[in-house]
Amino acid sequence: MTSRRLCEPKLRVCAFLIALLALSACERPQVYDTQFLAFGTLVEVTVYGADRQLAEHAFDAARADFQFLHRSWRAWKPSAVTRANAAIAAGRSIELAPVLEPLIEPAQRLSRLSGELFNPAIGKLIELWGFHSDDYAGRRPPVNARIDALVSQHSSMRDLVLEDGRLSSSNRSVQLDFGAFAKGVGVGRVVEHLRRIGVDNLIVNAGGDLRAIGAHGERPWRIGIRNPLAEGVLASVEINADESVFTSGNYERYFEFRGRRYHHIIDPRTGYPARGATSVTVIHADPGTADAAATALFVAGPRHWHSVAHAMGLGQVMLIDTQGRAHMTAAMAERTRFEVDPPPPIIVNKGS
Ligand code: AMP
Ligand code: MG
Repeated sequence: MTSRRLCEPKLRVCAFLIALLALSACERPQVYDTQFLAFGTLVEVTVYGADRQLAEHAFDAARADFQFLHRSWRAWKPSAVTRANAAIAAGRSIELAPVLEPLIEPAQRLSRLSGELFNPAIGKLIELWGFHSDDYAGRRPPVNARIDALVSQHSSMRDLVLEDGRLSSSNRSVQLDFGAFAKGVGVGRVVEHLRRIGVDNLIVNAGGDLRAIGAHGERPWRIGIRNPLAEGVLASVEINADESVFTSGNYERYFEFRGRRYHHIIDPRTGYPARGATSVTVIHADPGTADAAATALFVAGPRHWHSVAHAMGLGQVMLIDTQGRAHMTAAMAERTRFEVDPPPPIIVNKGS
């Protein structure tokens, strides 16, 4: 969907020149957007106030960046991540691929801050549950003993050692899966790239997770947060200048077995899908932090999310619990407009 503001030529004299001027005036204050598939989801790039040529250039750059990053960071097909995992499993060190630099150390830091609720070292558990594939037909939960065996190996980002440009692990059970983080880092890098080529007002939205910079003309960007318990939008927020909004939800990847839903966000302490939350939205200046934090707070659940949010330095959080109540920080409550009638019961965390 590409929209153009209409332009009325004011004079009919000097037709050629005027037409050219009118065209360039028309080409300025417009919204352009494009969509493509990357990171297993639909990515939408929306640009405001750039001319068509710059917008097309930006779309090509975004598409190429996302494809490159996805191919480099995916955990289930050959990539820099699977090569690192193979070395770790074999007890070898491997040269740290430059493309992994934006992931490894930042993920170690965020994992530590989250009390390891965000733990990209649990790839073996994710694989055991079968969430590396989109084919869930006939899927059933793994047997307890296999889950327990993996949990007892305590795979942690702390086990990774970076020395002289080489990566190794003191624990061979570590298997990296950046599914909870790569999209955030990727969206952040793509936006930086587009900014460098001259786009100042844009949204990069990867399946509802986004970073927005600048504004939509005179007004800020307004974005919707999906309702985890029904179709449609639950709430909306206005974006200030440069912010990222990331949501983790139990509706994204799941299967049902004997009437119970088994979703893809795994509590590393139990090895089972985390309980208590249906979605967590985090707004933060840094998209990688927002992505990792949404996953961590989902695992923390309605009773513990605020202490993890505090440890991770987050000010803007909304968690929807399984009863549909909205647990929020004060700053998030202030800027959130609920789009459902009646709005959900709201529990504002006093300490936030
Ligand atoms: P997100 O939608 O950002 O919450 O990411 C979920 C994805 O991250 C899953 O599909 C898994 O690949 C991976 N994952 C699941 N549980 C965790 C966890 N506790 N820590 C880190 N990554 C996880
Ligand atoms: Mg995440």
